[in-house]
Amino acid sequence: MKGKGKTGRAPCDHSAYPVLSKFSQRQLLQLADFANNAKSAVPVTTIELEFPPLEPRGGAYKRAAGSLGGHHYFTAVQCRPTFGGLGQHTTDTKMNVEDFRKNGKEMIDYICDYVGGVGQRRVTPAVEPGYLRPLLPTTAPLKPESWSDIMADIEEKIMPGVTHWQHPRFHAYFPSGNSFPSILGDMLSDAIGCIGFSWAASPACTELETIVLDWLGQAIGLPKEFLAFSEGSKGGGVIQGSASECVLVCMLSARAQAIKKLKQQHPFVEEGVLLSKLMAYCSKEAHSCVEKAAMICFVKLRILEPDNNCSLRGATLRQAMEEDVAMGQIPFFVSTTLGTTSCCSFDNLSEIGPVCSDLDVWMHVDSAYAGNAFICEEFKPLMRGIEHASSFNTNPNKWLLTNFDCSTMWVRDRFKLTQALVVDPLYLQHNYSAQSIDYRHWGVPLSRRFRALKLWFVLRSYGIDGLQRYIRNHCKLAKRFEQLVLKDSRFEVANDVKVSF
Ligand SMILES: *Cc1c(COP(=O)(O)O)cnc(C)c1O
Repeated sequence: MKGKGKTGRAPCDHSAYPVLSKFSQRQLLQLADFANNAKSAVPVTTIELEFPPLEPRGGAYKRAAGSLGGHHYFTAVQCRPTFGGLGQHTTDTKMNVEDFRKNGKEMIDYICDYVGGVGQRRVTPAVEPGYLRPLLPTTAPLKPESWSDIMADIEEKIMPGVTHWQHPRFHAYFPSGNSFPSILGDMLSDAIGCIGFSWAASPACTELETIVLDWLGQAIGLPKEFLAFSEGSKGGGVIQGSASECVLVCMLSARAQAIKKLKQQHPFVEEGVLLSKLMAYCSKEAHSCVEKAAMICFVKLRILEPDNNCSLRGATLRQAMEEDVAMGQIPFFVSTTLGTTSCCSFDNLSEIGPVCSDLDVWMHVDSAYAGNAFICEEFKPLMRGIEHASSFNTNPNKWLLTNFDCSTMWVRDRFKLTQALVVDPLYLQHNYSAQSIDYRHWGVPLSRRFRALKLWFVLRSYGIDGLQRYIRNHCKLAKRFEQLVLKDSRFEVANDVKVSF
Protein backbone atom coordinates (compact mmCIF):
# COMPACT_ATOMS: atom_id res chain seq x y z
CA MET A 1 0.00 0.00 0.00
CA LYS A 2 2.96 2.28 0.68
CA GLY A 3 3.76 4.55 -2.30
CA LYS A 4 7.03 4.11 -4.09
CA GLY A 5 7.42 7.67 -5.23
CA LYS A 6 6.28 10.77 -3.40
CA THR A 7 2.85 11.91 -4.47
CA GLY A 8 1.90 15.53 -4.75
CA ARG A 9 -0.40 17.24 -2.27
CA ALA A 10 -3.25 18.08 -4.59
CA PRO A 11 -5.94 20.25 -3.04
CA CYS A 12 -8.77 18.09 -1.85
CA ASP A 13 -12.51 18.70 -2.06
CA HIS A 14 -13.69 17.04 1.15
CA SER A 15 -17.38 17.16 0.32
CA ALA A 16 -16.89 15.02 -2.74
CA TYR A 17 -15.71 11.94 -0.91
CA PRO A 18 -17.20 9.31 1.37
CA VAL A 19 -17.12 10.26 5.02
CA LEU A 20 -16.74 7.82 7.90
CA SER A 21 -17.81 8.44 11.43
CA LYS A 22 -15.19 6.08 12.84
CA PHE A 23 -11.70 5.60 11.63
CA SER A 24 -9.66 2.41 11.87
CA GLN A 25 -7.10 0.51 9.92
CA ARG A 26 -9.79 -1.88 8.75
CA GLN A 27 -11.90 0.95 7.45
CA LEU A 28 -8.95 2.53 5.73
CA LEU A 29 -8.34 -0.75 4.00
CA GLN A 30 -11.98 -0.84 2.99
CA LEU A 31 -11.56 2.64 1.59
CA ALA A 32 -8.49 1.52 -0.29
CA ASP A 33 -10.50 -1.41 -1.64
CA PHE A 34 -13.29 0.91 -2.58
CA ALA A 35 -10.88 3.18 -4.41
CA ASN A 36 -9.18 0.30 -6.15
CA ASN A 37 -12.47 -1.21 -7.25
CA ALA A 38 -13.85 2.07 -8.47
CA LYS A 39 -10.85 2.71 -10.67
CA SER A 40 -9.39 -0.74 -10.96
CA ALA A 41 -6.88 0.29 -13.59
CA VAL A 42 -4.98 2.49 -11.12
CA PRO A 43 -4.01 1.07 -7.72
CA VAL A 44 -4.13 3.26 -4.64
CA THR A 45 -0.49 3.95 -3.94
CA THR A 46 -0.49 5.87 -0.72
CA ILE A 47 -2.60 6.42 2.32
CA GLU A 48 -1.85 9.73 3.87
CA LEU A 49 -2.83 10.83 7.33
CA GLU A 50 -3.28 14.42 8.36
CA PHE A 51 -4.63 15.84 11.56
CA PRO A 52 -5.76 19.43 11.04
CA PRO A 53 -9.01 20.61 12.57
CA LEU A 54 -11.17 21.11 9.50
CA GLU A 55 -14.01 23.07 11.04
CA PRO A 56 -14.39 24.61 14.49
CA ARG A 57 -17.44 22.55 15.35
CA GLY A 58 -16.48 21.83 18.95
CA GLY A 59 -14.40 18.90 17.89
CA ALA A 60 -11.26 18.15 15.97
CA TYR A 61 -11.35 16.00 12.91
CA LYS A 62 -8.93 13.44 11.77
CA ARG A 63 -8.74 13.26 8.08
CA ALA A 64 -7.35 10.35 6.21
CA ALA A 65 -6.93 11.13 2.61
CA GLY A 66 -6.09 8.40 0.22
CA SER A 67 -4.35 9.42 -2.90
CA LEU A 68 -4.69 7.73 -6.19
CA GLY A 69 -1.86 8.17 -8.61
CA GLY A 70 -1.02 11.48 -7.00
CA HIS A 71 -4.60 12.73 -6.75
CA HIS A 72 -6.70 12.72 -3.63
CA TYR A 73 -9.50 10.27 -4.07
CA PHE A 74 -11.32 9.86 -0.80
CA THR A 75 -11.44 11.32 2.65
CA ALA A 76 -12.29 9.68 5.94
CA VAL A 77 -13.28 11.89 8.82
CA GLN A 78 -13.38 11.13 12.49
CA CYS A 79 -14.83 13.43 15.09
CA ARG A 80 -13.37 13.51 18.57
CA PRO A 81 -13.58 15.98 21.47
CA THR A 82 -10.81 18.58 21.60
CA PHE A 83 -8.53 19.44 24.45
CA GLY A 84 -9.74 16.77 26.86
CA GLY A 85 -13.13 18.48 27.02
CA LEU A 86 -11.55 21.67 28.33
CA GLY A 87 -12.88 24.01 25.66
CA GLN A 88 -16.05 26.12 25.91
CA HIS A 89 -18.03 23.65 23.83
CA THR A 90 -18.58 21.35 26.79
CA THR A 91 -21.22 22.56 29.18
CA ASP A 92 -20.61 20.54 32.31
CA THR A 93 -16.83 20.74 32.72
CA LYS A 94 -15.86 23.09 35.47
CA MET A 95 -12.67 24.62 34.17
CA ASN A 96 -12.90 26.80 31.08
CA VAL A 97 -10.16 28.94 29.57
CA GLU A 98 -10.80 31.87 31.89
CA ASP A 99 -10.80 29.58 34.94
CA PHE A 100 -7.59 28.06 33.72
CA ARG A 101 -6.01 31.49 33.33
CA LYS A 102 -6.86 32.27 36.96
CA ASN A 103 -6.15 28.84 38.48
CA GLY A 104 -3.00 28.51 36.43
CA LYS A 105 -1.62 31.73 37.89
CA GLU A 106 -2.52 30.49 41.36
CA MET A 107 -0.67 27.28 40.61
CA ILE A 108 2.45 29.23 39.57
CA ASP A 109 2.20 31.12 42.87
CA TYR A 110 1.85 27.84 44.74
CA ILE A 111 4.91 26.44 42.92
CA CYS A 112 6.95 29.57 43.71
CA ASP A 113 6.04 29.33 47.39
CA TYR A 114 6.80 25.61 47.37
CA VAL A 115 10.20 26.03 45.74
CA GLY A 116 11.03 29.05 47.91
CA GLY A 117 10.09 27.26 51.12
CA VAL A 118 11.07 23.66 50.39
CA GLY A 119 14.14 24.01 52.63
CA GLN A 120 11.87 24.49 55.65
CA ARG A 121 10.09 21.17 55.09
CA ARG A 122 11.25 17.74 56.25
CA VAL A 123 13.27 16.03 53.50
CA THR A 124 11.52 12.67 53.91
CA PRO A 125 7.93 12.40 55.12
CA ALA A 126 7.03 11.09 58.58
CA VAL A 127 4.43 8.62 57.34
CA GLU A 128 3.87 4.88 57.38
CA PRO A 129 2.80 2.82 54.37
CA GLY A 130 -0.93 3.24 53.79
CA TYR A 131 -1.03 6.74 55.33
CA LEU A 132 -3.07 8.19 52.48
CA ARG A 133 -5.93 5.75 52.16
CA PRO A 134 -7.88 6.82 55.31
CA LEU A 135 -7.49 10.47 54.25
CA LEU A 136 -9.21 10.06 50.88
CA PRO A 137 -12.64 8.77 49.83
CA THR A 138 -12.75 5.15 48.70
CA THR A 139 -14.36 6.01 45.36
CA ALA A 140 -13.84 8.77 42.81
CA PRO A 141 -16.27 11.71 43.14
CA LEU A 142 -19.40 11.38 41.05
CA LYS A 143 -19.94 15.14 40.79
CA PRO A 144 -17.30 17.72 39.84
CA GLU A 145 -15.41 19.23 42.76
CA SER A 146 -14.17 22.80 43.06
CA TRP A 147 -10.62 23.83 42.31
CA SER A 148 -10.15 25.25 45.80
CA ASP A 149 -11.24 21.97 47.41
CA ILE A 150 -8.78 20.02 45.32
CA MET A 151 -5.93 22.44 46.06
CA ALA A 152 -6.70 22.42 49.78
CA ASP A 153 -6.05 18.68 49.83
CA ILE A 154 -2.59 19.18 48.34
CA GLU A 155 -1.10 20.86 51.43
CA GLU A 156 -3.16 18.81 53.84
CA LYS A 157 -2.96 15.30 52.44
CA ILE A 158 -0.45 15.01 49.61
CA MET A 159 2.51 17.15 50.71
CA PRO A 160 2.85 15.31 54.06
CA GLY A 161 3.66 12.19 52.01
CA VAL A 162 6.08 13.78 49.53
CA THR A 163 9.84 13.16 49.57
CA HIS A 164 11.33 16.49 48.54
CA TRP A 165 13.93 15.66 45.90
CA GLN A 166 14.54 19.37 45.31
CA HIS A 167 15.28 19.99 48.99
CA PRO A 168 18.73 21.52 49.61
CA ARG A 169 19.47 18.68 52.08
CA PHE A 170 18.26 15.83 49.86
CA HIS A 171 21.31 13.62 49.23
CA ALA A 172 19.75 10.25 48.43
CA TYR A 173 19.88 8.21 45.20
CA PHE A 174 21.11 10.63 42.50
CA PRO A 175 20.45 14.28 41.66
CA SER A 176 17.15 15.07 40.02
CA GLY A 177 17.46 17.92 37.53
CA ASN A 178 15.01 20.79 37.52
CA SER A 179 14.84 24.48 36.67
CA PHE A 180 12.22 27.08 35.90
CA PRO A 181 12.89 27.14 32.14
CA SER A 182 12.49 23.37 32.11
CA ILE A 183 9.18 23.50 34.00
CA LEU A 184 7.89 26.17 31.63
CA GLY A 185 8.94 24.17 28.57
CA ASP A 186 7.12 21.14 29.93
CA MET A 187 3.99 23.20 30.63
CA LEU A 188 3.90 24.26 27.03
CA SER A 189 4.46 20.69 25.89
CA ASP A 190 1.52 19.60 28.05
CA ALA A 191 -0.68 22.27 26.50
CA ILE A 192 0.28 21.47 22.93
CA GLY A 193 -0.41 17.88 23.87
CA CYS A 194 0.82 16.41 20.60
CA ILE A 195 1.80 12.78 20.25
CA GLY A 196 4.89 13.05 18.11
CA PHE A 197 5.45 9.50 16.96
CA SER A 198 6.26 10.44 13.38
CA TRP A 199 7.36 13.54 11.52
CA ALA A 200 3.84 14.01 10.15
CA ALA A 201 2.24 13.60 13.58
CA SER A 202 3.90 16.90 14.58
CA PRO A 203 6.84 18.08 12.48
CA ALA A 204 8.25 20.56 15.04
CA CYS A 205 8.20 17.89 17.75
CA THR A 206 10.43 15.63 15.66
CA GLU A 207 12.65 18.28 14.11
CA LEU A 208 13.37 20.15 17.36
CA GLU A 209 14.33 16.86 19.00
CA THR A 210 16.87 16.08 16.26
CA ILE A 211 18.27 19.62 16.43
CA VAL A 212 18.64 19.95 20.22
CA LEU A 213 20.18 16.48 20.36
CA ASP A 214 22.76 17.65 17.82
CA TRP A 215 23.38 20.78 19.94
CA LEU A 216 23.88 18.75 23.10
CA GLY A 217 25.90 16.04 21.30
CA GLN A 218 28.25 18.72 19.96
CA ALA A 219 28.59 20.32 23.39
CA ILE A 220 29.43 16.94 24.93
CA GLY A 221 31.96 16.33 22.16
CA LEU A 222 30.52 13.12 20.75
CA PRO A 223 32.13 11.83 17.53
CA LYS A 224 30.53 13.55 14.53
CA GLU A 225 29.09 10.23 13.32
CA PHE A 226 26.59 10.49 16.21
CA LEU A 227 25.25 13.84 15.01
CA ALA A 228 22.33 13.80 12.58
CA PHE A 229 23.43 16.91 10.66
CA SER A 230 27.09 16.13 10.11
CA GLU A 231 28.23 15.38 6.55
CA GLY A 232 27.14 11.92 5.36
CA SER A 233 25.94 10.96 8.83
CA LYS A 234 23.86 7.86 9.52
CA GLY A 235 23.61 8.70 13.22
CA GLY A 236 21.50 10.94 15.37
CA GLY A 237 19.96 11.48 18.77
CA VAL A 238 16.65 10.77 20.45
CA ILE A 239 15.05 11.47 23.83
CA GLN A 240 13.99 8.38 25.75
CA GLY A 241 12.12 8.12 29.05
CA SER A 242 15.05 6.74 31.03
CA ALA A 243 18.59 5.37 30.85
CA SER A 244 17.15 1.89 31.37
CA GLU A 245 15.13 2.33 28.21
CA CYS A 246 18.26 3.46 26.30
CA VAL A 247 20.16 0.35 27.35
CA LEU A 248 17.20 -1.90 26.50
CA VAL A 249 16.64 -0.38 23.07
CA CYS A 250 20.34 -0.65 22.18
CA MET A 251 20.46 -4.26 23.36
CA LEU A 252 17.36 -5.07 21.29
CA SER A 253 18.99 -3.58 18.22
CA ALA A 254 22.29 -5.36 18.81
CA ARG A 255 20.34 -8.59 19.23
CA ALA A 256 18.44 -8.08 15.97
CA GLN A 257 21.71 -7.36 14.17
CA ALA A 258 23.41 -10.43 15.64
CA ILE A 259 20.49 -12.72 14.78
CA LYS A 260 20.33 -11.32 11.24
CA LYS A 261 24.01 -12.04 10.70
CA LEU A 262 23.76 -15.53 12.20
CA LYS A 263 20.70 -16.25 10.08
CA GLN A 264 22.76 -15.56 6.96
CA GLN A 265 25.51 -17.89 8.14
CA HIS A 266 23.12 -20.62 9.32
CA PRO A 267 19.91 -20.25 7.28
CA PHE A 268 18.44 -23.54 8.48
CA VAL A 269 18.96 -23.04 12.22
CA GLU A 270 15.92 -21.90 14.25
CA GLU A 271 16.10 -18.33 15.57
CA GLY A 272 15.41 -19.61 19.07
CA VAL A 273 18.55 -21.74 18.88
CA LEU A 274 20.60 -18.77 17.66
CA LEU A 275 19.16 -16.62 20.46
CA SER A 276 20.23 -19.17 23.06
CA LYS A 277 23.87 -18.62 22.03
CA LEU A 278 23.95 -14.85 22.44
CA MET A 279 25.99 -13.39 25.29
CA ALA A 280 25.99 -9.81 26.61
CA TYR A 281 28.60 -8.36 28.96
CA CYS A 282 28.93 -5.66 31.59
CA SER A 283 30.93 -4.94 34.71
CA LYS A 284 29.85 -5.70 38.27
CA GLU A 285 29.61 -1.94 38.71
CA ALA A 286 27.10 -1.52 35.85
CA HIS A 287 23.57 -0.38 36.71
CA SER A 288 21.02 -3.12 37.36
CA CYS A 289 19.11 -1.95 34.26
CA VAL A 290 21.61 -3.94 32.12
CA GLU A 291 20.53 -7.13 33.89
CA LYS A 292 16.91 -6.19 33.40
CA ALA A 293 17.48 -5.49 29.69
CA ALA A 294 19.12 -8.91 29.28
CA MET A 295 16.13 -10.48 31.04
CA ILE A 296 13.70 -8.79 28.67
CA CYS A 297 15.85 -9.64 25.62
CA PHE A 298 16.08 -13.25 26.83
CA VAL A 299 19.86 -13.32 26.42
CA LYS A 300 22.59 -14.41 28.80
CA LEU A 301 24.58 -11.71 30.60
CA ARG A 302 28.09 -12.22 31.89
CA ILE A 303 28.95 -9.84 34.70
CA LEU A 304 32.68 -9.15 34.85
CA GLU A 305 35.07 -8.10 37.65
CA PRO A 306 36.42 -4.58 37.31
CA ASP A 307 39.96 -3.60 38.42
CA ASN A 308 40.88 -1.99 41.76
CA ASN A 309 39.55 1.35 40.56
CA CYS A 310 36.19 -0.27 39.72
CA SER A 311 36.96 0.12 36.00
CA LEU A 312 36.25 -2.67 33.50
CA ARG A 313 39.41 -3.43 31.50
CA GLY A 314 39.88 -4.69 27.96
CA ALA A 315 41.90 -7.78 28.93
CA THR A 316 39.17 -9.00 31.30
CA LEU A 317 36.57 -8.64 28.57
CA ARG A 318 38.74 -10.30 25.91
CA GLN A 319 39.45 -13.29 28.13
CA ALA A 320 35.75 -13.73 28.96
CA MET A 321 34.72 -13.49 25.33
CA GLU A 322 37.38 -15.95 24.19
CA GLU A 323 36.27 -18.45 26.83
CA ASP A 324 32.67 -18.03 25.76
CA VAL A 325 33.43 -18.36 22.04
CA ALA A 326 35.36 -21.57 22.82
CA MET A 327 32.19 -22.84 24.54
CA GLY A 328 30.07 -22.03 21.46
CA GLN A 329 28.60 -18.79 22.78
CA ILE A 330 28.31 -15.67 20.62
CA PRO A 331 29.25 -12.30 22.16
CA PHE A 332 27.04 -9.54 20.74
CA PHE A 333 26.73 -6.64 23.20
CA VAL A 334 28.78 -4.87 25.86
CA SER A 335 27.29 -2.24 28.12
CA THR A 336 30.06 -0.02 29.48
CA THR A 337 29.60 2.73 32.04
CA LEU A 338 31.16 6.16 32.40
CA GLY A 339 30.25 7.21 35.93
CA THR A 340 28.92 4.10 37.67
CA THR A 341 26.03 4.39 40.10
CA SER A 342 27.72 3.20 43.29
CA CYS A 343 31.16 4.86 43.01
CA CYS A 344 31.24 6.93 39.79
CA SER A 345 34.03 4.86 38.20
CA PHE A 346 34.83 4.89 34.50
CA ASP A 347 35.25 1.79 32.34
CA ASN A 348 38.27 1.80 30.04
CA LEU A 349 36.71 2.36 26.61
CA SER A 350 40.07 2.65 24.81
CA GLU A 351 40.81 -0.96 25.76
CA ILE A 352 37.27 -2.33 25.49
CA GLY A 353 36.55 -0.71 22.11
CA PRO A 354 39.08 -2.67 20.02
CA VAL A 355 37.94 -5.95 21.66
CA CYS A 356 34.38 -5.17 20.55
CA SER A 357 35.53 -4.25 17.02
CA ASP A 358 37.46 -7.52 16.68
CA LEU A 359 34.36 -9.57 17.47
CA ASP A 360 31.81 -7.26 15.77
CA VAL A 361 30.13 -6.54 19.09
CA TRP A 362 27.89 -3.53 19.82
CA MET A 363 29.51 -1.29 22.47
CA HIS A 364 27.03 0.82 24.41
CA VAL A 365 28.16 3.59 26.76
CA ASP A 366 25.85 4.33 29.68
CA SER A 367 26.79 7.70 31.12
CA ALA A 368 23.44 8.58 32.65
CA TYR A 369 24.90 10.77 35.36
CA ALA A 370 28.50 11.73 34.53
CA GLY A 371 27.90 12.26 30.80
CA ASN A 372 26.46 15.68 31.54
CA ALA A 373 29.87 16.81 32.82
CA PHE A 374 31.44 16.21 29.40
CA ILE A 375 30.10 19.58 28.25
CA CYS A 376 33.15 20.94 30.15
CA GLU A 377 36.54 20.72 28.38
CA GLU A 378 38.33 19.49 31.50
CA PHE A 379 36.07 16.40 31.79
CA LYS A 380 36.16 15.32 28.14
CA PRO A 381 39.29 13.16 28.74
CA LEU A 382 37.08 10.90 30.90
CA MET A 383 35.30 9.97 27.66
CA ARG A 384 38.48 8.66 26.00
CA GLY A 385 37.71 5.76 23.66
CA ILE A 386 34.20 7.02 22.84
CA GLU A 387 35.11 6.76 19.13
CA HIS A 388 34.61 2.96 19.48
CA ALA A 389 31.02 3.30 20.76
CA SER A 390 27.93 2.26 18.80
CA SER A 391 25.64 4.17 21.16
CA PHE A 392 25.80 6.57 24.11
CA ASN A 393 23.30 7.87 26.65
CA THR A 394 23.20 10.54 29.32
CA ASN A 395 20.34 11.92 31.44
CA PRO A 396 19.95 15.71 31.44
CA ASN A 397 17.17 14.94 33.96
CA LYS A 398 19.89 13.95 36.40
CA TRP A 399 22.46 16.68 36.19
CA LEU A 400 21.62 19.24 33.54
CA LEU A 401 18.78 21.29 35.00
CA THR A 402 16.09 19.47 33.02
CA ASN A 403 13.19 17.82 34.78
CA PHE A 404 12.27 14.17 34.39
CA ASP A 405 11.82 12.63 31.87
CA CYS A 406 14.68 13.44 29.52
CA SER A 407 17.21 10.72 28.78
CA THR A 408 19.22 11.54 25.67
CA MET A 409 20.64 8.80 23.50
CA TRP A 410 22.76 8.89 20.34
CA VAL A 411 23.60 6.14 17.87
CA ARG A 412 26.25 5.85 15.20
CA ASP A 413 23.89 4.09 12.79
CA ARG A 414 20.18 4.81 13.08
CA PHE A 415 19.31 2.18 10.49
CA LYS A 416 20.91 -0.50 12.65
CA LEU A 417 19.02 0.89 15.63
CA THR A 418 15.62 0.81 14.01
CA GLN A 419 15.89 -2.60 12.35
CA ALA A 420 14.78 -4.18 15.62
CA LEU A 421 11.89 -1.78 16.13
CA VAL A 422 10.17 -1.01 12.83
CA VAL A 423 6.61 -2.06 12.31
CA ASP A 424 4.83 0.07 9.81
CA PRO A 425 1.07 -0.32 9.74
CA LEU A 426 -0.87 1.51 7.11
CA TYR A 427 -2.46 4.05 9.45
CA LEU A 428 0.93 5.38 10.57
CA GLN A 429 2.51 5.81 7.15
CA HIS A 430 3.04 9.18 5.54
CA ASN A 431 4.52 10.63 2.38
CA TYR A 432 7.67 12.06 3.92
CA SER A 433 9.07 9.00 5.70
CA ALA A 434 12.05 8.78 3.34
CA GLN A 435 13.13 12.36 4.09
CA SER A 436 12.30 12.54 7.77
CA ILE A 437 12.87 10.81 11.09
CA ASP A 438 9.98 8.88 12.62
CA TYR A 439 10.91 8.53 16.27
CA ARG A 440 8.39 5.74 16.81
CA HIS A 441 11.03 3.46 15.26
CA TRP A 442 13.66 4.52 17.83
CA GLY A 443 12.08 3.08 20.96
CA VAL A 444 9.40 0.95 22.54
CA PRO A 445 6.40 3.34 22.87
CA LEU A 446 4.46 4.65 19.91
CA SER A 447 3.25 7.79 21.68
CA ARG A 448 5.85 10.37 22.63
CA ARG A 449 5.65 13.72 24.43
CA PHE A 450 7.20 16.92 23.10
CA ARG A 451 10.16 16.60 25.47
CA ALA A 452 12.61 18.48 23.26
CA LEU A 453 10.89 21.75 24.23
CA LYS A 454 12.09 21.72 27.82
CA LEU A 455 15.63 20.80 26.81
CA TRP A 456 15.59 23.61 24.25
CA PHE A 457 14.35 26.06 26.88
CA VAL A 458 17.15 24.96 29.22
CA LEU A 459 19.93 25.09 26.60
CA ARG A 460 18.83 28.56 25.50
CA SER A 461 18.13 30.00 28.95
CA TYR A 462 21.47 28.98 30.46
CA GLY A 463 23.66 28.71 27.38
CA ILE A 464 26.42 26.10 27.33
CA ASP A 465 28.44 28.57 29.38
CA GLY A 466 25.84 28.70 32.16
CA LEU A 467 25.50 24.92 32.19
CA GLN A 468 29.28 24.50 32.40
CA ARG A 469 29.37 26.84 35.39
CA TYR A 470 26.61 24.83 37.05
CA ILE A 471 28.54 21.54 36.55
CA ARG A 472 31.84 23.07 37.71
CA ASN A 473 30.25 24.38 40.88
CA HIS A 474 28.97 20.88 41.72
CA CYS A 475 32.41 19.40 41.13
CA LYS A 476 34.04 22.09 43.28
CA LEU A 477 31.64 21.28 46.12
CA ALA A 478 32.47 17.57 45.74
CA LYS A 479 36.19 18.33 46.09
CA ARG A 480 35.48 20.38 49.19
CA PHE A 481 33.44 17.53 50.63
CA GLU A 482 36.27 15.11 49.83
CA GLN A 483 38.68 17.31 51.83
CA LEU A 484 36.33 17.26 54.81
CA VAL A 485 35.92 13.48 54.65
CA LEU A 486 39.70 12.94 54.36
CA LYS A 487 40.21 14.96 57.54
CA ASP A 488 37.81 12.77 59.50
CA SER A 489 39.23 9.41 60.57
CA ARG A 490 35.77 7.84 60.89
CA PHE A 491 35.28 7.91 57.09
CA GLU A 492 37.18 6.89 54.01
CA VAL A 493 36.84 7.98 50.40
CA ALA A 494 35.85 4.95 48.32
CA ASN A 495 37.10 5.96 44.87
CA ASP A 496 38.83 8.82 43.04
CA VAL A 497 36.64 11.92 43.10
CA LYS A 498 36.65 12.66 39.39
CA VAL A 499 33.43 14.64 38.93
CA SER A 500 30.92 15.43 41.60
CA PHE A 501 30.83 12.28 43.74
C1 LIG B 1 20.77 6.59 37.15
C2 LIG B 1 21.44 5.60 36.28
C3 LIG B 1 20.71 4.65 35.55
C4 LIG B 1 19.22 4.52 35.64
O1 LIG B 1 18.60 5.61 35.11
P1 LIG B 1 17.04 5.62 34.73
O2 LIG B 1 16.96 6.82 33.83
O3 LIG B 1 16.34 5.82 36.01
O4 LIG B 1 16.70 4.35 34.07
C5 LIG B 1 21.39 3.80 34.71
N1 LIG B 1 22.73 3.86 34.60
C6 LIG B 1 23.48 4.75 35.29
C7 LIG B 1 24.97 4.78 35.10
C8 LIG B 1 22.87 5.65 36.16
O5 LIG B 1 23.62 6.55 36.82
